[in-house]
Amino acid sequence: MTTLSSCEKKRDLNDNPFFEEWDTPHGVPPFSKIMPEHYEKAFERAFSLYAEEINQIVSNNETPSFQNTIEAFDRAGEMFERVYNIFEYICDTASSKEIREAQKTILPKVKLFLSSIYQNEKLFDKVSRIYDRRMSLELDKTERRLVEKIYERFTDGGALLDKSQRSRLQDIETQCVEIQSAISANILAQDSTYYFEVPISKVEGLPLEIKDLAREEANRRNLEDKMVFTFRRSSIFPFLQTSNNRDLRKSFYTAYTSRCNKGEWDNTDNIHRLMELRAEKAEMLGFRSYAHYRISHQNEKNPDKIFSMVKEIFKYANLKAKEERGRLFTQFTMDNRECDSTDFKSWDWWYYAEKLRKKEYISDDQIRNFFSLDNVQLGAFNLLNRLYGITFRPIAAPTYEKNVRVYEVINDDLSSLGVLYIDPYSRNGKKQGAWCSELVPSREINGKRRAAIVAVSYNFTEPIDKNRPTLLGLKEVRTFFHEMGHAIHFLFCRTKYNLLRHPEWDVVEFPSKLMEQWAFEPSILRSYAFHYRNSEAISKSSIEKIQKVLLFNQGFDLTELSAAALLDLEIHMLKDYTDFNADSFQQEVLYKKYEMIPQIEPRYRLPYFAHILKDDYAAGYYFYLYSEVMAHDTFDAFVQTGDVTDKRMAQQLRKYLESSGDLDGESSYQAMIGHQPEIMHMLLRRGMIQKQKEEEIDKEQVEDSDE
Ligand SMILES: [Zn+2]
Repeated sequence: MTTLSSCEKKRDLNDNPFFEEWDTPHGVPPFSKIMPEHYEKAFERAFSLYAEEINQIVSNNETPSFQNTIEAFDRAGEMFERVYNIFEYICDTASSKEIREAQKTILPKVKLFLSSIYQNEKLFDKVSRIYDRRMSLELDKTERRLVEKIYERFTDGGALLDKSQRSRLQDIETQCVEIQSAISANILAQDSTYYFEVPISKVEGLPLEIKDLAREEANRRNLEDKMVFTFRRSSIFPFLQTSNNRDLRKSFYTAYTSRCNKGEWDNTDNIHRLMELRAEKAEMLGFRSYAHYRISHQNEKNPDKIFSMVKEIFKYANLKAKEERGRLFTQFTMDNRECDSTDFKSWDWWYYAEKLRKKEYISDDQIRNFFSLDNVQLGAFNLLNRLYGITFRPIAAPTYEKNVRVYEVINDDLSSLGVLYIDPYSRNGKKQGAWCSELVPSREINGKRRAAIVAVSYNFTEPIDKNRPTLLGLKEVRTFFHEMGHAIHFLFCRTKYNLLRHPEWDVVEFPSKLMEQWAFEPSILRSYAFHYRNSEAISKSSIEKIQKVLLFNQGFDLTELSAAALLDLEIHMLKDYTDFNADSFQQEVLYKKYEMIPQIEPRYRLPYFAHILKDDYAAGYYFYLYSEVMAHDTFDAFVQTGDVTDKRMAQQLRKYLESSGDLDGESSYQAMIGHQPEIMHMLLRRGMIQKQKEEEIDKEQVEDSDE
């Protein structure tokens, strides 16, 4: 019996999709075969293969060269990357109890393994011998950049520190991972367990569709005569915008902004500890603060420039928001005669903005019918076809979820560019928001390009009624285009070196923010905005109204966004966190130091500011702004040609996207546009400043230039 069962077990352990070649269309992951229990073994094998490859580099007796050290290092770890990408993707899109358990054991091991590579003294010795001679070796710019990037990874891992400091650094990393997974788990738990229940009789003003969803949520919880709302953006924000009951808006919004601030899922101590550890790490690596450390690794390396850019944007936004507030006050005091304008609060802003939008502009309800998910998707596909000549062909491929759509992306010369997954709907086990994942990166192998496999994930509402498709609001349309911008960047990538595949973080959002710019251009709208029922084309007046409404409430929008960026920079600029308190810190910084208007909250308060609590956007929430500045600047270059899909500009853009990691961003951007990004186009297109004023400034400058 014993023999049999252990035999059985042995066979099971080796029966792992990660140990086999993927015999699937275009080599996509065999999702239907990958089970949660496969990951741990797959990681173990990936670690040992990776370690073996590193060992080969280290034990090579030849003099270290670019080829035998740098290039070999760049090529190592392919299986690790494959397992990691898919694991991360499944954690985000199809999490379960088993996956969460696996995360707990696997993620600390990953971090530990990766840091052990960058703690390898012999390997660092080889790398630094090449780094020291990088100017005299015959390396082109890209190769030199690769050497510098790899060297930087080692110094970030503490390669220049003594032994005890290095072990402390490792200790810090381990603790950070533990804290960060506790933080994410708290946010996920808070969001998935909390719900706001309201007696049906008290729900007034909400659109039918939102009420239907709220009834569904209540039914799921066996709550009769109730409606249930959640922290999902598609639930709470429509509620805040349309519920006539002010007290309910207040309670729900207060619960939202108090997420993970106390109680069972409290993140405040975690944040405090994480900040201390990050500051200690930055200091050990020789930086003034964690923000300085992070910014030094970006395309724009000057913290002063970044700070003043964010402050400048915030200043214009806050001013514009004050103007907007004035109009909302008027409406508010008309509805609440007993109140004066000082009673106007943040939970009122959403409601009165929506009221004003409906009265004077166009509401999402009026135009949703023209933005069915399928039409919007077609719109993005058509646009990419107009720009780059690429097409999208649906293919049958294994998926992890029935609603996922899979396409082969084909170049105009009919060669395959890669595979695109679109995972549109919200569901349990899927994280909130929208994102793009690189499942299998494109790679140059022996001069041949391996096609990329990329996925975009959204949280749109799955249709309940079979006769009515998912209809998107303008924000969601923009989100759809945004993620497609990331996807196209991954699909286009032709960088020879793996470690240069991604450009610096501050420019990562550039292709996606740029893609957004096209979504509502009149000529593009006419190509996809058709009524879902009768295919009637969107009218000229609706297009005009859309252009107008896009500028509506932008002061508010940009204020909450840039406030979050400021908050993030400020918290990571601190050196001493004794007596740190997340709540009072936020108050001090935003409302006292920067005089933000009190009716606006930052996009995220610290306890649920997941972007910056993870490593990716730590001291880097401003990346969105920096990238957006570039996007508006580039889009203006398209506009200047007289054709927003100008082929020649698109060709230059594609060249930039193909090789965006090869060169430093500044010079490749300069090569594409001819100048460095200027914030003016963003302020203009967001309506923070007027075209007229900008022309006046230009005119004044021309006239003044005589002096
Ligand atoms: Zn993005």
